[in-house]
Amino acid sequence: MPPDAPSPTTEEKRNAGVILRRLHRRYPEMGTALDYADAWQLLVVTVMSAQTTDENVNAVAPQLFERYPTPHDLAVADPEDVEKIIYSTGFFRQKTKSIIALSADLVANHGGDVPADIGALTELRGVGRKTASVVLAEIWDLPAIAVDTHVKRVTHRLGLTTSDDPVAVERELMALYPKRSWSGISMRFIQFGRDVCDARRPRCWECPMRDRCPYEPKSEPPP
Ligand code: SF4
Repeated sequence: MPPDAPSPTTEEKRNAGVILRRLHRRYPEMGTALDYADAWQLLVVTVMSAQTTDENVNAVAPQLFERYPTPHDLAVADPEDVEKIIYSTGFFRQKTKSIIALSADLVANHGGDVPADIGALTELRGVGRKTASVVLAEIWDLPAIAVDTHVKRVTHRLGLTTSDDPVAVERELMALYPKRSWSGISMRFIQFGRDVCDARRPRCWECPMRDRCPYEPKSEPPP
């Protein structure tokens, strides 16, 4: 866990528990919507999913992995060739740099295998805590909470955190929830953020969290 975890009150923990149980009822089974075949592919597509939709990534990933089926292949890829394949996902130059670099680091330091350890994962170039947490939770069901823009927004509105810093949000959520539930938290908040608690137009009128949510003003249904 990141250091300096605050100590929530019993009531805050109880409230957080009610919210998570409602999320579980709404989303009993959760996994990433990204298509992947193994841990390395999940690392790559998660990096590519920044600032775009999972659908956009899924549309180009098959071509990428057909041309570069292993980390060894992508590690020595021609960046221009990779850029052409992933162009439509946006920020393609930076993403190309990251997925080639993380593959090269995997080959150089881990024989091409993805380590099941957040410290080792975040040492790979282009891999931050969020990406590492997604992979740990999704591949090995290891306790981790990935904080992306949806998790940050929804937990903030629900009053589960007061911070804007993803590492602090992660820390506060870890303090609120028992470790055994960590790996299922991010995906549910992300999906809820997409379906109900939208950034610009939250659907407060039909929100199952409405009675638990301090966010104001709550939105009304369209006329
Ligand atoms: S009541 Fe509105 S702001 Fe609060 S969680 Fe629901 S959709 Fe989001």
